[in-house]
Amino acid sequence: MRPVFDEKDLARYPFLQEAQAKIAGSALNNLETFLSSEYGSQTINLAAERVEAAITIPPKGLTAYFGEYHATIPDAQKSLYAYGMARVIASCINDRSVIDRLILFEARRSMFYLMSDEHGETDEAKREEVARRLGLDLHDETIPIAPYIEMVSGLREPGWRLVNREVSGGLVRIHATEFEILLRERIRVVIRSRGLPKVPPEVCALLSPAIERLTAVHQGQMLRDLGPIDESRYPPCMTALIMALAGGANLTHMGRFALTAFLHTIGLSTTQIVEVYQRSPDFDIEKTLYQVEHISGRSGTEYTSPSCATMETNGLCVHRDALCERIGGPLGYYRKKKGSPPPGPAPTGSSG
Ligand code: SF4
Repeated sequence: MRPVFDEKDLARYPFLQEAQAKIAGSALNNLETFLSSEYGSQTINLAAERVEAAITIPPKGLTAYFGEYHATIPDAQKSLYAYGMARVIASCINDRSVIDRLILFEARRSMFYLMSDEHGETDEAKREEVARRLGLDLHDETIPIAPYIEMVSGLREPGWRLVNREVSGGLVRIHATEFEILLRERIRVVIRSRGLPKVPPEVCALLSPAIERLTAVHQGQMLRDLGPIDESRYPPCMTALIMALAGGANLTHMGRFALTAFLHTIGLSTTQIVEVYQRSPDFDIEKTLYQVEHISGRSGTEYTSPSCATMETNGLCVHRDALCERIGGPLGYYRKKKGSPPPGPAPTGSSG
């Protein structure tokens, strides 16, 4: 007999269809009214806590966090709504890394419950049922290539790469010990595939205190993750742009944009960026200040550093080195160079 999922289970596994239906048919449908109620504001607080934990707690610390703060669910309905509300908040923040962190947080949270074995055999049955609903059979020894590739796309360890797997007849062989990670990644894929709700600007405005606070938390966390500014970690393309400036060259619009966005993202202040442009012989402080402030977000849109593909299309990808082969953009280069792990396999189960 298949296990029955009660309200607490839906709060634990909010990606399940029943949970989604409950959220869709709930008070969250009329967000404006919901947000103005006491219950609504408590839900927002819970949701904001969730987004903040997703932003600030590294993946490896999440299990301990869930054990401390999510082990019991005092109000299942509120917890389920907080899941929906956290997605609304992430949609309003509209930042790719916040969204990715929230998806990872939710996948690991559900996995925490699936592996808790609170009620002995019942949990084994629920684990199998959740997996089945997501298209995985925990007793299978193989998985078709396409879903396998989708599931492992966030895993960095070389052992998950298809070239390192036993593949036969379009099927990838799986070891029983790998299912826990695969199920967690499958949950992540399913949550990601649902996308985020489209939230009207007037509703985002109602959530603005939480959104502004979380945006600041995210900005601070990003700068902490990047560490102190270190020119020796700049990618070759950015070093070349700075050298070109110092040598008296006129940068193209795209060159200026890429350099400014990069320097802003790694944490240079407007004044520090203007100082970089000061090295240029045709330096015009007002024009530079305007451009830097515009790209840094004064216009309301904060631009991010372009990808390597865009840099290449614009003739800005120069002096590539070995690290360039392992990143997708100049910012990734800077991050990797900072924490450049020595060559070799990463610890099992990490993702990102
Ligand atoms: S590959 Fe990317 S990081 Fe490396 S030089 Fe080209 S644009 Fe810069």
